[in-house]
Amino acid sequence: EQTIQRIAAGEVVERPASVVKELIENSLDAGATRISVAVEGGGTEFLRIRDDGHGIPESELPLAVAEHATSKISNINDLDSGVASLGFRGEALSTIGAVSKLTLRSRTADAASGAELTVDGGEIGEIEPAGCPKGTTVEVEDLFFNTPARRKFLKRDRTEFDHINTVVSQYALANPEVAIALEHDGRELFATEGTGSLRSAVLSVYGREVAESMIELDYEADDNGPIEGISGLVSDPETTRSTREYLATFVNDRYVTAATLRNAVIAGYGGQLAPDRYPFAVLFVEVPPGAVDVNVHPRKTEVRFDDEAAVEAAVQQAVESALIDNGL
Ligand code: ADP
Ligand code: MG
Repeated sequence: EQTIQRIAAGEVVERPASVVKELIENSLDAGATRISVAVEGGGTEFLRIRDDGHGIPESELPLAVAEHATSKISNINDLDSGVASLGFRGEALSTIGAVSKLTLRSRTADAASGAELTVDGGEIGEIEPAGCPKGTTVEVEDLFFNTPARRKFLKRDRTEFDHINTVVSQYALANPEVAIALEHDGRELFATEGTGSLRSAVLSVYGREVAESMIELDYEADDNGPIEGISGLVSDPETTRSTREYLATFVNDRYVTAATLRNAVIAGYGGQLAPDRYPFAVLFVEVPPGAVDVNVHPRKTEVRFDDEAAVEAAVQQAVESALIDNGL
């Protein structure tokens, strides 16, 4: 049984960044207003995600790390809501616990004290009392210690950390109302303030020069179109990088990679970008749930729109008119 669990874990948890993604989603689901992520050794040595969310009652700690246990699906139809719901279905903590030494520590607002539970390579330990503030802390040590094949597949610490940085940055940009901080080997990379301002989140994540270059997108939804809204920020044509990595796109508030969206943003610049240079963008597209196809594999982030051409045209138009409105 543990072997099956480990194989399943390799499918779900590909690398430290996938662990971070799952744990941040849990924190957001718990209504956190502050989330801090601390990483050592590229994330394989040590990862800690701490939040101030609603916490887990002591008696429910074992359930939280059990297989296929979720407190979030109340109705089978929830499974179809795709883009709207975050995360896996009750698998993340159990699969992470199967391939690491995991500590889950939590306290709810009305509990007098906290409690913790450890899972060591799938072996669930005993509940112990723990002093902690309201909220939840998950620590993951020695990721993939018992799955050498998966561990061997990992890249250098630096590269694994870059993936984590990308994931945490995406969540920080998508959730400007939540204060999200990231540190690696004791050094703080960024900390957003949780003010709700996207520009302020961009300032924390990408720095002042980028934040000041960002232009607000503007788009009026038309009643018959496939798009309910487009919003976000794009940089001026001079503020660019040599990779597409800084084109962060979200559909119905979920981070996605969609060539259609990236291409549309670039097309919106109408040839103003230098060769092989790409802008910064934080783009939020809202569509009716039925108008987008989410890849069924939980690890993938690609989406396809029913009407790709219409979405592309609308995004390009939104970028174009924002640039024109700003005299660019
Ligand atoms: P899922 O998120 O799909 O429900 P997980 O394995 O990620 O499955 O989490 C299992 C359960 O543990 C959740 O349903 C939730 O009840 C609880 N949980 C996990 N992380 C947190 C957290 N940070 N704050 C509060 N509850 C949490
Ligand atoms: Mg989850």
